[in-house]
Amino acid sequence: MDYFLIIDKNATIRKIMYKNLTIYYFSGIGFSELLYHEHANLLNAARSLIEKCPCAYGCPSCVGPTLEVGKSAKEIVPKIIGLILGK
Ligand SMILES: [Zn+2]
Repeated sequence: MDYFLIIDKNATIRKIMYKNLTIYYFSGIGFSELLYHEHANLLNAARSLIEKCPCAYGCPSCVGPTLEVGKSAKEIVPKIIGLILGK
């Protein structure tokens, strides 16, 4: 199977340096580093949104449609976030 990589002539080239590796990658609008550093705040905001949502079992505004995520998602997701954050 052949693979083709099409790169826009205006694509942004970014560079990550980790130990003795240098990785160049294309595209993105530059949020990755910010999101990496803000992940605890983002998870706290997600947990708060879920807990304040007035739905009973989850909805597209908090954890997603109940038919896709199940009736226990609204109860379980904040617990998973707590485990990830260690609180
Ligand atoms: Zn909801």
